[in-house]
Formats: sequence, C-alpha cells, structure tokens
Amino acid sequence: MDEVVDVAVVGAGPCGLAAAIAAQRAGLRAVVLDRGCLVNGIASYPTYMSFFSTAERISIGGVPFIVATDKPTRRDALAYYRGVADVYDLDVRQYERVETLQSLPAGVEAPSAPGGASHRAPRWLLRSVQRTGGVRQVATHAVVIATGYFGRPNRLGVPGESLPHVQHGYVEGHSAWREPVVIVGGANSAVDAALDMYRAGARVTMVHFGDTLDSNVKPWVRPDIEARLREGTIGARFGARVVAIEPDAVVVRGPQGDERLPATQVYTMTGYLPETGLLEQIGVPIDPDSGIPAHDPLTMATPFPGVYLAGVIASGNQANRIFIENGRDHGDAIVAHLQSSWR
Ligand SMILES: Cc1cc2nc3c(=O)[nH]c(=O)nc-3n(C[C@H](O)[C@H](O)[C@H](O)COP(=O)(O)OP(=O)(O)OC[C@H]3O[C@@H](n4cnc5c(N)ncnc54)[C@H](O)[C@@H]3O)c2cc1C
Repeated sequence: MDEVVDVAVVGAGPCGLAAAIAAQRAGLRAVVLDRGCLVNGIASYPTYMSFFSTAERISIGGVPFIVATDKPTRRDALAYYRGVADVYDLDVRQYERVETLQSLPAGVEAPSAPGGASHRAPRWLLRSVQRTGGVRQVATHAVVIATGYFGRPNRLGVPGESLPHVQHGYVEGHSAWREPVVIVGGANSAVDAALDMYRAGARVTMVHFGDTLDSNVKPWVRPDIEARLREGTIGARFGARVVAIEPDAVVVRGPQGDERLPATQVYTMTGYLPETGLLEQIGVPIDPDSGIPAHDPLTMATPFPGVYLAGVIASGNQANRIFIENGRDHGDAIVAHLQSSWR
C-alpha cells in the first residue's frame, strides 16, 4: 500500500465532499478520489442551468453559499464547491478512478501519522488508476462510497443508441439551430432541454412513454412547456416508445403505430442508475426491486464494518429520492457512527 488514511471517500460530488469535511472536522485524515474533476456531475450539467434548490439548501460544511438570485446557477455552484474544498483544504485527488475495493486482513498495523498521532487500523484497500495510468493503493479504516449516478445512464436498449448523434446528457442548444431534434423523456431534464433547444431555434419533438409529462416537472416550468406543446412549437408523442435510432431519424411506436421522426440530434433524457460496482465487488447486497444497496439509513453503514454510503448512491433506482439537499448530511451520520464504534 502507498498510504494509510482514516477515511477514503470515493466521489468528489457534493455529498462526498460533505462526508470528507465531516471526517476532517472530527480530526480524521480523509482523502477524496474522483475519476473526473471536482463535482464532476455538476460540471456536466447543461451549461446554463439553474438549480431548483435555493443556494442555502445545497451548501455544505457550514460555508455560506450566497448568490444574488433566488436560485444558483451551475456556474455559481462550481465556484462555490471549489471554494469549500479550498476553505477546508480537502485532499481531493482528481482524475483518479477507484477500480477495486477489498478488505484487509485483521491485524494490519496502522503506521504513525505525522505529529505522533496514530491512524485508525486500516480495514480496506482501494486501488485507483490515475489519468497517466499510474496505480495507487490507499489503505483506510473507513471507506465512503459516494459514487453517485451520472456515470450510469438508463439506456433505451434500442438499435442505433450508440450512434454519434445520440447523447445522454444535454449541454446547450446553439448547435441545434434549425435542426430537427428528438428528446426522449418527460421529466425535468427532458423539459429543460426541450425548452432551451426550442429557444435556440431547433425543431424539437419530445417522445415520452407516459401519457403526459411527469408529475414532478418543476411548477414554475410547467406552464411554459405546456403552452409550447399546446401551440405545437414543440412537438410531442406521448404514450410512445423509441424502437430504433437511425442516422437521420428516430423510429417511434405509439398509439397510432410506427412513425419515423426526422432527427439529426437525439437526446435520451431518461435518467440514471446508481453506480454500485465497488459495493458489488465486496458483496454488499443490492435489493433486486428497488436497487438500494443494503445500509442503515440512520448511520449510512453497510453490513460491512467501515463501509458507508453517502449521497444519491443510496437511493437505488429511484435516483431522485436523494439529492444534494438531503444527501449532504450523510457525512455527519457516518462520522457519528464511526466515533460510536470506537467507544
Ligand atoms: C440538471 C440537474 C439539476 C439538478 N438540480 C438539483 C437541485 O437543484 N438540488 C439538488 O439537491 N439536487 C439537484 N440535482 C441532483 C444532484 O446533482 C445530485 O443529487 C448530486 O449530484 C448527488 O451528489 P453525490 O455527491 O451523491 O453524487 P455525484 O454528484 O453524482 O458525484 C459522484 C462522483 O463520483 C465520481 N465517481 C463515480 N465512480 C467513481 C470511481 N469508481 N472512482 C472515482 N470517482 C468516481 C463521479 O465522477 C462523481 O464526481 C440535479 C441534477 C441534475 C442532473
């Protein structure tokens, strides 16, 4: 092993960072590893999006998040989380993917930490690969899996889904000016993308398997999208499913049979599934129906001593059950549980 720490957090999303802060505040040596940049998921949001939460409700570590508007933008949040990581001088290792997690045999000695303090006995070994290909091994007393869901999109499973004009995330609409675009989905991300692309001059059609838009569409956005659908400036096929994607069209099957919708850009805004790979490696049971990894929601402890969940990873297939607002407190629960286990 290259290094021993008390707490290793996998994932530098808002909930992973909050967990590292909680550990650090308790005097523990914490590191955070992320395969991408700091708050990688937020960095890949649509460029001009605003949060539905107010700034205060997505702040972490007690650091005030002050913006001049009612809702922070993606750019506000990126600056804020960079600032928080600096304020706490968090040890964040970016562009370092954790590939394996394995238990260490009991009795592995904890070396002395700088300043004479001793680390807690390591129980888990993380093996990570850096952008350059270098491999690192970190031994840790506790590991917090905060891997989120952005890396595991819900796929349609239809022919043509891997074509280059098909994307699972939406960035911004300029490139679609005057282009025929199909957006698959009927929830907030699909609606936001449809409106943004329509305003950028794209010819947008939404395709959704439900009979209406999702009931959780933001109430301040709903009148706008409903007006566009009514006037037909954004097209929609409800009760319809995509059966194939071709280089210049999407084939949908709906109540009226099959139809070929022209599309030079296709956005599958069909949500995400939690990234449970590391948990599966060590045998944490995942509920087959809900997709929720076994854990105690009060302490976020899995059945494996020293292995915890933080953030949206704990929400299973209904990924919107946990978000920053209610996942940012997981770190405090984890550290309280760790401390109680030492008494
Ligand atoms: C458009 C949009 C708007 C949203 N608005 C809001 C809002 O207003 N309010 C709100 O509370 N929530 C909102 N959310 C949801 C919010 O973004 C997520 O709930 C939040 O990001 C979850 O945080 P997390 O720390 O659990 O995981 P994530 O932010 O998903 O972070 C997980 C991190 O783990 C890293 N990772 C994964 N696997 C590995 C690995 N093997 N090794 C190393 N690193 C790894 C990823 O790179 C990523 O950085 C929104 C989401 C979207 C898409």
